[in-house]
Amino acid sequence: MTLDLKDYVASYPDFPEPGILFRDISPLLENGDAYRQATNEIVDYAKKLNVDMVVGPEARGFIVGCPVAYDLNIGFAPARKKGKLPGHTVKATYGLEYGKSSLYLHDDAIKPGQRVLVTDDLLATGGTIAATIQLVENLGGVVAGTVFFVELMDLKGRDKIKGYDILSLMQY
Ligand code: IMP
Repeated sequence: MTLDLKDYVASYPDFPEPGILFRDISPLLENGDAYRQATNEIVDYAKKLNVDMVVGPEARGFIVGCPVAYDLNIGFAPARKKGKLPGHTVKATYGLEYGKSSLYLHDDAIKPGQRVLVTDDLLATGGTIAATIQLVENLGGVVAGTVFFVELMDLKGRDKIKGYDILSLMQY
């Protein structure tokens, strides 16, 4: 039985600030069948793209990317916030839907030429994913595709990553 994954996304008006409608994937993660269905769709996509590495930004990019890497028996590299990675890093700064931030990746996480799948839970303005793509490309990786559980269409995040392959499982 195929589930309608939108039944497993909760919506919170005015979180974390007034005027923001926060889409929360917690119900999806809390349901084994829904989480597996979403992950399997991404695994099928990743197989077609022949990826050999997964990279996701802190923190929910890990939740999307890690089970995909596990299933494909390939590695996962976390893109993390300031002060979290102990080794030498590359850095990318970006603006958020609410705020500003930087992401870091260990500078030996990706080998030049590796085909990378970039994962996050949600595409809003595209700043987070654009920064993660920049980190991968700084290290010589090839971004084969990007995936999201949820895409907020009115924020036009996909315009920020024109030319990259995008899979979003749900659109609002
Ligand atoms: P962007 O950089 O504007 O595309 O924002 C995407 C990032 O912010 C992702 O890492 C999301 O986890 C987070 N985010 C932004 N809006 C929402 C939301 O409505 N629900 C959950 N996460 C969000």
